[in-house]
This record gives sequence, C-alpha cells and structure tokens, in this order.
Amino acid sequence: VAKVFLAVDIAGSTLKAAIVDEAGTMLVRDRVPTPARDVWPSVARLVRRVVAASPEPAAACGVVCSGPIDAASGTVSPLAIPSWQEFPLRDTVAQLTGLPVTLDTDAQALVLAEAWAGAARGMSDVIGVVVGNSVTGGIISAGRLLQGRFGNAGTIGHVVVEPEGRPCACGGVGCLDAYCSRAAIELELGRDMQRAPLAIRERTGTLVGRALASVAALVDVRCAVIGGSVALTFGDPFFAAARDELERRTGLEFTRGFAVHPAALGVHATLIGAAVLAQLERVGAPAAGPGAGGIGAGGLSTALVTGSVEVVHAPAPR
Ligand SMILES: [Zn+2]
Repeated sequence: VAKVFLAVDIAGSTLKAAIVDEAGTMLVRDRVPTPARDVWPSVARLVRRVVAASPEPAAACGVVCSGPIDAASGTVSPLAIPSWQEFPLRDTVAQLTGLPVTLDTDAQALVLAEAWAGAARGMSDVIGVVVGNSVTGGIISAGRLLQGRFGNAGTIGHVVVEPEGRPCACGGVGCLDAYCSRAAIELELGRDMQRAPLAIRERTGTLVGRALASVAALVDVRCAVIGGSVALTFGDPFFAAARDELERRTGLEFTRGFAVHPAALGVHATLIGAAVLAQLERVGAPAAGPGAGGIGAGGLSTALVTGSVEVVHAPAPR
C-alpha cells in the first residue's frame, strides 16, 4: 500500500491542504480564503476536512507557510498574516493531527517540488522564486535545501534592487518585494495585476533578473525556476526581461548562461513540496540537534525520483 502524506500550505490569501501520495499525486485537496483574523480555526477546519476525506491515514505532515519562520522552534511570524507573531504552527498542527510535522517556508517547498518533479528535475543547484502575493525564494545547493539559521535562506524578496527606492514592509528600502509583489504592483497601478501594462510586466522581470544576478554570484546556482501568480500571469514579457537583465549582469565564468525557467507544477507546487518535505522527514531519521549532518542521503535517494535533494532540518539554536 502506498503511503500518503498530509500537506498544508498557509499564505496570506489562501489556506490549502491536500493528501498526496508517494508519487506526488494529489488524492484530496481543498482550499479556503485566509480570514483577516482567527486564522487558526480556519486552518483546523480545513485540515480536519481533508484528513476525513483521505482514503487512508497519512504517515506524516508537511506544513509550509509564508515567511519569516523559525524552523528550530517551529513558530511562524508571516508578514502576510500580521495576527500571527511567533505562532507555534508546527506543534499546533502536530496536536491537531497526531502526526510528525515538518515546517518550512512556501518557497522552499516550491523549489523542492520543482527539483523533484518539475522544471528543475534532477538539478542539484537551483533557486526557486515565488513572485506572487509576496516575493520569496528557496535555494537547493549541492543537492541540499539551504535552511539558514532560522529556516529563511533564499528570501530573495528582500534583496535590494533600488538602493534609494521605495520603503518595504520589512523596514528596509528598495527591496525586490516592494516593486514586484502583487500588492506593490496593484497599489501602484490602482487596479488588478492581471491588467498591468507591458512596461510594468517588463520592469518586474528586469528587477527579478537583477536580484537573481546577485544570487548567481553569491550562491553559485545555475538556474532559477520562477512561479507565483505575478510571474505566471505576466508570462513571456516578464521572463524575457529577466533573461535580458541577467545577460547584462552575469559576466563571470560561473554565472554566465544562468537560465530562467517558468515553474512547471503551477499553483499546486507548494502543496506537492510540502508532501515531499513530509516524505523526506519520514524516510530519514530527523536531525536531532545542532551540528547534525542531515537526514541520511542513502534513504533519500531511494525515496525520491531524482535522488538529488536532501533536507537538513538542523538550524542552530539562538
Ligand atoms: Zn524588504
């Protein structure tokens, strides 16, 4: 009997949950809009509904949330959900479901899913970028998902692209997110992002390409997979502008030829990634503490189709 996993995706606009099997097929899925307040009761109802519809009990649960998160303590403080400050999401989901729960950012789930079964299949050095309600990302380097101290590595939305530019929700100035998030674009246009003119579509691509050029130099990844509602709606003009800007700004031997691909798994990528996280955690023994070297590549390579992605859940304590 194939194992199934519970996947939960919490973002500022939508709450999603699914039951996903080992092959990445979604057997059950459901979604509700994120309420302005009392977010947890909505999550709990959604999760109960999906669990009740599952053909068999889930083996583990992967929860992904828009950042910032603290993977060590299992808490989240998403900019997009102001009422959650250090909300103990991992333990609360574990209590509700009785399952082992893995917590990561939504963008890290996206890059895992795309490296597992999407546009970055089999690649061991790639950044996944979400250009949607917010701009964020996750990095796989040498086959490992980079976590950073608190689990926020890859948060490209707060890379500076205009040094004297707009104020950003993070408190900084000129961040990529302040120009390219859905909210920023709609505030500027005064209308829905879907009706953005060509110039805005291209500028968004240019700025994302600018940030990616820095990433290419800093982390030495070979390509980006870009998803999210803004990127996928803006389409060709966005991707062409991103590639042009990268061409202009990547002159080093190892950065040249940096490729940009649209995400292949569409809107379900983060849910599939959450299931991959749950699966990785179940297959290998979870790293117990600081300095632990990962969760056992041997077990992973047989569990994952690509055999190239490993997750290290051992962020150092504060
Ligand atoms: Zn910022």
